Amino acid sequence: MTSQILKGADVAAKLNEENRQRAEALQHMGLTPTLAIIRVGEREDDLAYERSALKRCANAGVAVKQYIFPADVPEVEFLSKLRRIARDRSIHGCLIFRPLPKHIDDAKVCAILPLEKDVDGITPAAMSALYAGTGGGFAPCTAQACIEMLDHYQIPCAGKRVVVIGRSLVVGKPLAMLLMARDATVMVCHSKTPDTAAICRNADIVISAAGRAKMVGMRYMIPRHTVLDVGINVGEDGQLVGDVDFDAASQVVHAVSPVPGGVGTVTCSVLVRHVIEAAERRAAKLLIKK
Ligand code: NAD
Repeated sequence: MTSQILKGADVAAKLNEENRQRAEALQHMGLTPTLAIIRVGEREDDLAYERSALKRCANAGVAVKQYIFPADVPEVEFLSKLRRIARDRSIHGCLIFRPLPKHIDDAKVCAILPLEKDVDGITPAAMSALYAGTGGGFAPCTAQACIEMLDHYQIPCAGKRVVVIGRSLVVGKPLAMLLMARDATVMVCHSKTPDTAAICRNADIVISAAGRAKMVGMRYMIPRHTVLDVGINVGEDGQLVGDVDFDAASQVVHAVSPVPGGVGTVTCSVLVRHVIEAAERRAAKLLIKK
């Protein structure tokens, strides 16, 4: 059996075109959707994501303001600048690279960032909106990217058994919520779960966000599976690999996403969409006020 390969590029291309059209409509109203990128230090993975965000924003017609701080920026200085960014009406969304250095208190950062600008769903307010299903916030972009992959490839989740491997606030937990909102039956496995492989074999869809290179091997897979691989790891040979043993999966399962070229490709397009949505919500508020 040869699996269907769920490529992120096709999904991203569709999102990018939608983003471009929606940003253009806002431009016609005199509003340029604008993202603030806030980075402390020079971590290589942050820089890579930033480059990709800059490119996607430029292609969609979304403006970017970059706020770069040295790794030893005093907390008080960082928070004061963040307050100004939070109040700046020309900025619709903020991407704050995390983890922040230890001397900057995450809770203080989250208290400053307004719900409507939290386009990567990092604050307790955004999580609360997602978990309670009240709306008004944004889901973390990677978790949302998984949903976009399933939607694009018309893989239904209603009534399906979905195993999410990983329980982080960035991916696993919010993804479980998004899947439940789509009527999936969700099981979340983590590092203390005994026999995750057996649990996976009982599922229809497996989404791995464990950060363990090639952990999801043959023992985890059955032919009916759709497998999404969120993991980004460096393999023994120095190459990027996912959590899933792709060579094995592509011989066994119904459909599988590659790494690189899978979910990660979609995340940035979701970020851009969230910025545009934040700007649209702002435009709607302004229209109501008039
Ligand atoms: P994390 O380290 O915060 O969480 C990992 C989770 O996996 C934990 O909940 C842990 O309990 C679980 N886990 C670890 N080993 C396990 C095992 N053997 N069995 C079952 N569960 C296990 O990581 P994260 O920030 O959630 O990221 C997860 C992966 O996704 C990483 O590889 C990261 O690089 C990648 N990632 C990708 C994107 C993207 O855009 N594609 C975005 C964010 C993170």
